[in-house]
Amino acid sequence: MAGKIKAIRGMRDILPPETGRWQAVESAAREAFALYGYRELRLPLIERTELFARSIGQDTDIVAKEMYTFPDRHGESLTLRPEATASVLRAVLENGLDKGGGVKKFYTLGPMFRYERPQKGRYRQFYQINCEALGSDAPEVDAEVILLLMEILKRVQLGASRLLVNSLGCPECQVKFKAGLGLFLINKEGLCEDCQRRRNSNPLRVLDCKSIHCREILKDAPVLRDYLCPDCAGHFTRVLALLSRFGVTYEEQPRLVRGLDYYTRTAFEVVAVGLGAQDAVAGGGRYNGLAKELGGPDLPAIGFAIGEDRLLEVLPENLGQGDGKKVFLAALGPGARDKAFSLLQTLRQEGIAAEMDFGERSLKAQMSQADRLGAAYTVILGERELETGQVVLRRMATGDQQQVALSLLPMVLAGL
Ligand code: AMP
Repeated sequence: MAGKIKAIRGMRDILPPETGRWQAVESAAREAFALYGYRELRLPLIERTELFARSIGQDTDIVAKEMYTFPDRHGESLTLRPEATASVLRAVLENGLDKGGGVKKFYTLGPMFRYERPQKGRYRQFYQINCEALGSDAPEVDAEVILLLMEILKRVQLGASRLLVNSLGCPECQVKFKAGLGLFLINKEGLCEDCQRRRNSNPLRVLDCKSIHCREILKDAPVLRDYLCPDCAGHFTRVLALLSRFGVTYEEQPRLVRGLDYYTRTAFEVVAVGLGAQDAVAGGGRYNGLAKELGGPDLPAIGFAIGEDRLLEVLPENLGQGDGKKVFLAALGPGARDKAFSLLQTLRQEGIAAEMDFGERSLKAQMSQADRLGAAYTVILGERELETGQVVLRRMATGDQQQVALSLLPMVLAGL
């Protein structure tokens, strides 16, 4: 006999009732996006490899090691998207969504793919909620994007967390900083192999290294803040002042850099307390130069990505379970089953979630099915109940039972 086929390593099934929690997060995000004037984009999961190579940066872990890249049937190199920003920009430029002035605001939800070593909170297919605001370099937009992120996290009842912010400056600041950092790194011993290479090619990446040794060495490294030009410093000060005005608690984190090459100016991350090593539930920042890099116009932009998998690990267990008033109809005998089937549809028409079993199972078996389905009430219909027109309504949590006239049942249930 052939063996069972299993899901690929790092790719998992997200199943009920867990999917209910995911829906709650996504609905909360959609509501917040609508409040802030963001509209949804639905984009392909596969893009030309070049899109990511050019935008994310050749020397990043993502492009160097983590992309699912393959030739299609005509030999063109395609990649499963490892992140959404490059695709959003591609779509915006290709469809002229950047035209007409003003800030253009979009969001997109869906899976991303990275060939990373799977562990708790790190998967090879994971899900993000992405937000992008394009067309303005105003610090108000940075503040608004962060406020929106915090609004979403509040709506899903994220507990203890920290908002870390930094400024990565503009390309001019970065050139000076890279020189300073390069000088600092020049004769440091004990850097990992990757960092020994990066310190020449792209020293900023060294700051993002996950190795404990490298982190230790970097403790005394120069920080970007000391290299900001007056414009970038002014921008950052204004963003921070706006966050304070709206009561957002933040921590300046001068060592925060983001894993991709294209970030400029404001960068931020939200880390959840109690998540262990993979504690970043959201990250984002400005990427003013990316549109040009992709052959487009000068289009300053800022965005964030919420990591849904990680976020859900710290959210309340009962998120999205609501007050669920599901009703299970336990019918005994063919006549009762037929009546129950009609009642099922009547209840659903009234907006009451209802289910029944179509087999010929015992009352006990049907009651435990009702429990498994999370029914709040069970209605018991037997042949006798059909004759008297009275059914038994049982509240599952307490076991309380009452007789209700069949004709009044929809009204009674609607009022519970
Ligand atoms: P990034 O695009 O790397 O800035 O990631 C944004 C967010 O996506 C992170 O803060 C994580 O919450 C989440 N994330 C990134 N990589 C993974 C992964 N391999 N598995 C699960 N979540 C991830």
